[in-house]
Amino acid sequence: MPEVERHSFDVLVIGAGGAGLRAAIEAREHGMRTAVLCKSLFGKAHTVMAEGGIAAAMGNVNSSDSWQVHFRDTMRGGKFLNNWRMAELHAQEAPQRVWELETYGALFDRTADGRISQRNFGGHEYPRLAHVGDRTGLELIRSLQQKIVSLQQDDFAETGDYESRLKVFQEFTVTDLVQDDGAISGAFGYWRESGRFVLFEAPAVILATGGIGKSFKVTSNSWEYTGDGHALALRAGASLINMEFIQFHPTGMVWPPSVKGILVTESVRGDGGVLRNSDGKRFMFEYIPEVFKDKYADNEAEADRWYTDQANNRRPPELLPRDEVARAINSEVKAGRGTPHGGVYLDVSTRLPAEEIRRRLPSMHHQFKELADVDITAQPMEVGPTCHYVMGGVQVDPDTAASSVPGLFACGEVSGGMHGSNRLGGNSLSDLLVFGRRAGEGASSYVRGLTTRPSCSDAAVQEAAAVALAPFEAEGGENPYTLHMELQQSMNDLVGIIRRAGEMEEALQRLEKLKERAASLTVEGHRQFNPGWHLALDLRNMLVVSECVARAALLRTESRGGHTRDDFPGMDSSWRRKLLVCSTSDSTVSVEEEPQIPIRSDLLDLFERTELEKYLTAEELS
Ligand code: FAD
Repeated sequence: MPEVERHSFDVLVIGAGGAGLRAAIEAREHGMRTAVLCKSLFGKAHTVMAEGGIAAAMGNVNSSDSWQVHFRDTMRGGKFLNNWRMAELHAQEAPQRVWELETYGALFDRTADGRISQRNFGGHEYPRLAHVGDRTGLELIRSLQQKIVSLQQDDFAETGDYESRLKVFQEFTVTDLVQDDGAISGAFGYWRESGRFVLFEAPAVILATGGIGKSFKVTSNSWEYTGDGHALALRAGASLINMEFIQFHPTGMVWPPSVKGILVTESVRGDGGVLRNSDGKRFMFEYIPEVFKDKYADNEAEADRWYTDQANNRRPPELLPRDEVARAINSEVKAGRGTPHGGVYLDVSTRLPAEEIRRRLPSMHHQFKELADVDITAQPMEVGPTCHYVMGGVQVDPDTAASSVPGLFACGEVSGGMHGSNRLGGNSLSDLLVFGRRAGEGASSYVRGLTTRPSCSDAAVQEAAAVALAPFEAEGGENPYTLHMELQQSMNDLVGIIRRAGEMEEALQRLEKLKERAASLTVEGHRQFNPGWHLALDLRNMLVVSECVARAALLRTESRGGHTRDDFPGMDSSWRRKLLVCSTSDSTVSVEEEPQIPIRSDLLDLFERTELEKYLTAEELS
């Protein structure tokens, strides 16, 4: 067996984004010896890219806001498929988590009277996103890291070792979880630089690995988003829910080709930017769906008045939930009213003074100037949908973030349920903090309750090493880059923003063939500095997760949130009562229907009956 370095901890957190860091802080505060493992450099997680802000009903800009209104908006955004308990905890606890970040050293933008400023975002009834310009994720990660350093300094004062209770292992990829009689006993992986193997023994693992966007060709996601946590959970015996729901953010860059998919923050629209087609028409007024008709302005005059008088006007339709805006852009382009590069125009230049644009949207100004040579203070941007976020993920207990596998927890984008069929902007950063904290707490109390520590057998470690080395064994097989490109193209074309049964069936056939070809992938060279080998291992995860997406999407014969069926265009209340649950056995994916847990009656009472009629079945309403 190849040499394997060993470490032992109480709680392992896989992922150093917002969810992972908040979970690690909590586990350490509960006295657990905690390790954080991450694929890239510490501080470079996806969370850093978050621009717009953190949604929390603090009521600083409009005092009518409350957790109940935030809960309602979240359920509406998710088209009532959300796990209502998660949506409730999230809305209730998000303000505390934002305040807490300031105690860690974060400094949010302020209102004139010194309170944390909050901005408008799609689907949120009131200005709700606490922000730091358009670099909120950076401040979030910076302050969580600062908290970690301060905890390490406390540990040094007590033990003489900064890393005695909280240690970060960066540029390290986990390839498999290790189990003892079903319960988690550790995680196995490799140093990206040397390729050397490491076993982390620990009775509790918190997955905080983020999303799956790299399975799609056009995406706002970075190279790390290969669905590793989703696949690790499946292989360990946990289940995934809501995998058919992928969020295509309406506004990604479309030009030049090298930057296609890079995100254009929703704050541009929140701060007054409007969408126009090639005829110059502000087209979103044509796309307000029936369920939102009473909440969105149906004419430009009212929409524009809303920015200064929200009490007496309805919101502009550019601020509809993301799924609605993405579909509208897609339809305009398909109808031949797109821009030269296949998008639509997003214009803030005629809406705000140049100085104000530079102050409110510094990153966007810089991004377009540097990457596309477009000055957004003087010209419109060209934008189009990009694969952005996965609503689906590990099925967890809402209060503790525990999965069905003893010792396995999940939080952040890798977990499922919270956002239902569509996530509202800003609700991810708050989700990371609320459920990161809960996962850290849940894992700590699980570990405290154990009478014996599960162990990692040599056989299990050997097997994990053999799987990781397999791409070096095969001869004459294919190059992982070719397979990755084919996978991305298939997912984009056949399981993308608009779906049809025949295309998804074709996607599943292609995935089957890709799986067969992946079994004999060949990588050149050695384990040191070998990105081809890394991709070969990531592909194992992308393929199984993509299959979950395609299978669940084929089964759900309705359109809801981030799942649009051309052949089943309407929302069907009977489908709202069902979750599609993915699991694997011997690498075969199966998807089963599971009844959705009925919403608690006091939470239902927060909605008008006329609104509930749009979502619930007659039986539920009675
Ligand atoms: P991440 O921050 O992605 O962290 C994942 C971690 O897991 C990384 O450290 C990675 O290295 C590690 N990892 C993955 N696999 C492995 C493995 N096998 N082994 C070891 N480590 C592994 N949301 C909002 O609420 N507001 C916004 O304004 C906003 N803006 C966004 C802008 C952009 C451009 C993007 C892409 C997303 C945005 N989102 C926003 C969404 C939000 O940023 C993400 O959903 C969120 O940051 C995910 O956080 P996370 O902690 O779950 O994962």
